[in-house]
Amino acid sequence: MTLRGRLTAAFLAVVLGPVLLGAFFVASTVAAVSHNRSIERLDLAATSVRTSVSALCQQLHAAADAVAVLANPSQVAGAANQVVARGLASAVVVIRPDGRQLFATPSQPPRPWAECGGAGGDAGPAAIAARVEMRDAGGTPLGTVVVARHLDSAFVARLAAATGVAVTLLPGADTPADATLSTESPATRRAVVAAGERLSGDGTAETDVGRYVRRVGPSPGQPLPLVLSVPRTVPEGLYAVLVATVLLAGFCAVLAAWWLARSTTRPLAELAHAADRVADGDLAARVPVRTADEVGRLASTFNRMTRETQAYVQALTASRDQLRGHLAILGDTLSSTHDLQRILQVILQTALAATGARAGAVLLLDPATGLLDGQYAEDGPGNTRLAALPDAAGGADAVAPPVLPAGIGDHQPSTLTLPLGTGLLGSVVATGEPVRGRVDRDGPELSPDEPACRTYVAVPFSVAAPAVDPPRSAPGRPPAEPPTPAPPTSIGVLAVYDRLGFDEFDGADLATLRTFAAQAAVAVDNVRVHREAERLSMTDGLTGLWNYRRLQEQLHREIERSNRFGRTLTVLALDLDRFKEVNDTHGHPAGDTVLREFARRISAEIREVDVAFRNGGEEFVVLLPETDAHGGAVVAERLGAAIRDTPITIQANGGTDTVELPVTVSIGVAVYPEHGATGEQVLDAADDALYAAKAGGRDTYRVATVRPRPDGDEVPVASGPGSPEGDLPQAGGASFGPQPPRQSRGR
Ligand code: GH3
Ligand code: MG
Ligand code: MG
Repeated sequence: MTLRGRLTAAFLAVVLGPVLLGAFFVASTVAAVSHNRSIERLDLAATSVRTSVSALCQQLHAAADAVAVLANPSQVAGAANQVVARGLASAVVVIRPDGRQLFATPSQPPRPWAECGGAGGDAGPAAIAARVEMRDAGGTPLGTVVVARHLDSAFVARLAAATGVAVTLLPGADTPADATLSTESPATRRAVVAAGERLSGDGTAETDVGRYVRRVGPSPGQPLPLVLSVPRTVPEGLYAVLVATVLLAGFCAVLAAWWLARSTTRPLAELAHAADRVADGDLAARVPVRTADEVGRLASTFNRMTRETQAYVQALTASRDQLRGHLAILGDTLSSTHDLQRILQVILQTALAATGARAGAVLLLDPATGLLDGQYAEDGPGNTRLAALPDAAGGADAVAPPVLPAGIGDHQPSTLTLPLGTGLLGSVVATGEPVRGRVDRDGPELSPDEPACRTYVAVPFSVAAPAVDPPRSAPGRPPAEPPTPAPPTSIGVLAVYDRLGFDEFDGADLATLRTFAAQAAVAVDNVRVHREAERLSMTDGLTGLWNYRRLQEQLHREIERSNRFGRTLTVLALDLDRFKEVNDTHGHPAGDTVLREFARRISAEIREVDVAFRNGGEEFVVLLPETDAHGGAVVAERLGAAIRDTPITIQANGGTDTVELPVTVSIGVAVYPEHGATGEQVLDAADDALYAAKAGGRDTYRVATVRPRPDGDEVPVASGPGSPEGDLPQAGGASFGPQPPRQSRGR
């Protein structure tokens, strides 16, 4: 059964119950009162009937006395006639003592007659009579005078008028009920007679035709068998009115119950429907608020609840999408670039998005200075330029500030520098312990150099190997040994500040930040590994010098620099003399030792700005920026001496003997832009000069000379020492004659 049905039923029960009870009470009270009143009326009427009959009997007695007092049969007739004539009686009969009739007035009512003095007798009397003894003076009975009064409808009508009730004379056995004397209507007369006949004595009864009946007599003093009757006094309309009232009340109750149930259950049904929709995921479901009552409040509360849930879900969805975007960009960035600054910036932005923080910072430790450098970003529109980060992975190249993809520039970064061990960030890196808390409650004292905040989470990150290369033996040269692994130490810190909404950061935020810090560490490590690989790819494994690939890059850069500053660049080409013999005599490992020692000596002899390369085999190149031919010759001289003056110690005979091996080198010198318009040409000129040096007896150097080409252009040729270009040994000089054709270097 529905709630509406239950409410309707309950309301009907509550309303209709009392109405029905009241109606029943009214009806029964009215019936009881009417019954009592009718009985009282009938009692009164019975009394007045007795009085009336008694008066009639006295009247008849008086008339009989008047006849009997004459005591003379001859005069009796006249008196009797007179009584009848004067209307005192209907008939007079004088009966002699022996029972014979002495006289009778002419018209006699039919028998039987009811005797006034008797106890009542025959049913259906036609007259009422009084009897008086007639005696002479001596008291001798002379007879009986009977005076009778005919019972007709006028008599009954008078009786009824006197009593105020309907009067019926019970008929004799032979007389039909309809024909009896009665003031009742013929329709009810039979029922009244039947009820009267059933009653004995002075009883009262109710008929089924709506009459109360009262039997009066026959009894002593009232010889007539009479039935008095009154209609029930209850107005017939009363019950109809009561029934109509009950029906109307019922109808109104049904209407009211229907309205009440509807006004109560309809909003509930709407609420249930809306709740169903919400359960199905439709958070736009709302219910109309029609009233200000409890149901209305429930509806508006429901609406508020769904509205806020919807807003919350939308915010969650938006932040999830934002986070997803950040993660996608982070993934792209991690997989597509080794630009550490950009990676760290994206990690910082993603951490901000993931924790909902107002601001954040990512700092890297620069071991050389002991300073933490990095970027600080906070919520707000603005440019996407990155602050410079320390080159923690040891890369040599400066990196242009990256331009972030759209959607990542929500936080404006700025630079941040902090000494290790100071403030929140510095102490996190120093201790290597992550921290989370509220500044005013948990500390620590913030450094004036770091951003102000209320709440924070800061996580250090570390890599297994040092994030930076160890200091080099000499700048401009690759390290002789790979970086030495070190135990993990914190190399940076990732922190976020002041979660939007001013809640404190929780353990989940700390875990999130740990993840991003791990990403940062991986990124730093990746970049370091990448740069190490790049460095190795440009380094010669045997000597630790830069290789030919690097030479080409560096030559290109140096030539650009020369052009920019209008300076010269000198290139030395070196080739060990008769090196093949070393290999052949002492073995390849010994040759390698010579090559390593040769490289070491070159590195030791040149300036910091000079760079040495192993070109391949036992050929080497040295770039001397901002150096002219004269300077180049000086360096060539010095290098030749450095090799020549000290024999190289090698292990011979499988390592059992050490041999002091004299080694010499031939060197070609060429200068940009004098001896070539491009790096390649200058390198070729140096090679030519080297060839000239070899041709000139080895263990010497030659400087390239500029020779006019057949087409008018000048081409460099080597000149030996003492050539026209000052006192420099020049290639192509008279002492060596024309250069034989050479094959170009195959590299
Ligand atoms: P020259 O004075 O004319 O230069 O005589 P050379 O013997 O040096 O002549 P050449 O340039 O033909 O010989 C180069 C030799 O260097 C050949 C090769 O066996 C040797 N060599 C090249 N690379 C290496 C290396 O990496 N290790 C060792 N041990 N030997 C090398
Ligand atoms: Mg060679
Ligand atoms: Mg050689």
